[in-house]
Amino acid sequence: MTPPEQAGPHPGMPTYLGMPSFPVAAKTAVADSQLRRNLAHATHTIRVKRAGAVGELADWQELRAAAKAIKDHTLAHLDTYLVRLEQNVTKAGGHVHWAQDAAEANAIVAGLVRAAGADRVVKVKSMATQETGLNEALAADGIGALETDLAELIVQLGHDLPSHILVPAIHKNRAEIREIFLREMPDAPPDLTDDPRMLAAAARAHLRQAFLSAQVGVSGANFAIAETGSLVVVESEGNGRMCVTLPQTLISVVGIEKILPTWRDLEVFLALLPRSSTAERMNPYTSIWTGVTPGDGPADFHLVLLDNGRTTALADQIGRQALRCIRCSACLNVCPVYERTGGHAYGSPYPGPIGAIISPQLRGISSPVDASLPFASTLCGACYEVCPVAINIPEALVYLRGKVVDAKREKHFSPERTVFHASGLVLRSPALLAAAQRAAAVGGRLVARSGRIRRLPPPLSGWTDTRDAPAPPPESFRAWWARTRGSQPRGSRPRRSRR
Ligand code: SF4
Repeated sequence: MTPPEQAGPHPGMPTYLGMPSFPVAAKTAVADSQLRRNLAHATHTIRVKRAGAVGELADWQELRAAAKAIKDHTLAHLDTYLVRLEQNVTKAGGHVHWAQDAAEANAIVAGLVRAAGADRVVKVKSMATQETGLNEALAADGIGALETDLAELIVQLGHDLPSHILVPAIHKNRAEIREIFLREMPDAPPDLTDDPRMLAAAARAHLRQAFLSAQVGVSGANFAIAETGSLVVVESEGNGRMCVTLPQTLISVVGIEKILPTWRDLEVFLALLPRSSTAERMNPYTSIWTGVTPGDGPADFHLVLLDNGRTTALADQIGRQALRCIRCSACLNVCPVYERTGGHAYGSPYPGPIGAIISPQLRGISSPVDASLPFASTLCGACYEVCPVAINIPEALVYLRGKVVDAKREKHFSPERTVFHASGLVLRSPALLAAAQRAAAVGGRLVARSGRIRRLPPPLSGWTDTRDAPAPPPESFRAWWARTRGSQPRGSRPRRSRR
């Protein structure tokens, strides 16, 4: 293993590209009992802590409504605020680059790293660069990227992918992390135990030299303040602060939806985000930087503003609410589906309920994984209840399911659609319905055993493979009514028009 100061590219790193659909990936995940245990323990712990931290604020719902209103206003005037942000970053001595897609963003970053004469960068955890596959793109260009967030480092050393927004190594327990460190970190102490403090100390020592010698830092940002051109990163470990202050060149890759108009707006989000994510009243480190300051921090600052499907999502009246997301991960921790499958099954850096609505919008619904994501939910609504910016995730899921079904309908013959079409015809005609009920009664008696239908021939066997059904009664309600009362039930007679 290469020491951090010489860290090279990882050409063999896994990527999200071409991942299987959610049901296929989930089947493998739920078969892993260790994974399920790790996830259940971690999500339960975070859930309980978050509920306590949120319960301390009497005006939580008002804060939530304020955050929603601020984000909706900003998204409605995104063009204005983006231009204002660009003007103020430039005025403060920074440079702004606009990236339409992932390839453009990666090319801009690679060009800037080369221009700085560097062949490696230190990174603070950034969802935007995971989305663009920056590490893999830099590796292809001969540039090494070292993740410095502890959980991201564990994932990188394990040649793995993040499985949670906030706790990327949530699927690993302490013993597994110790094994990774001993195997992949040459400077790990040989007597390393799985004590969290020892593991953190080993990672700290491993990263320190890399921080001190790095020429280029790469970050994301939680928020970008248009009125001054300032960027904000909130974090728990202090690695982010090192990344944004120690290197001579700083490159921040930020989604265009991360913008807030003013500092007053930030106040609301700094109350909501720590409690929703780590269940803290305030996160340990909040780093804010504005352009460059001679003699203090990086001498060269570049902001790469990333679209990559966001303007398409913005044009969608229902789907656009996903752009309010502040990546707190509260929706993941309450989701019964996520708790059982973990994040890898979502085939995207955005797992869980938010991933199920944001990935199909950013990437489209043409791949199997993106078309399956809106169905990766029980629609229980727990995600909506905890979301600090009130994203109605169930509403967006149902809406996106409709889009997936419509897209399939245009392309393929659908047995389901044919069945529903035929059912519609039968249900509209009392004579056809009566005939269908008589046929079902006769057919049901032929295949039923002891009053239950346990096995049907294909294609109906798909239903009876996992469940049975009661045999249809020998006589329908209508037939019984007509026989015993001498007339049709009221609802089945044609209605007279009212004057
Ligand atoms: S959708 Fe809401 S709860 Fe989920 S990560 Fe985004 S802000 Fe947090």
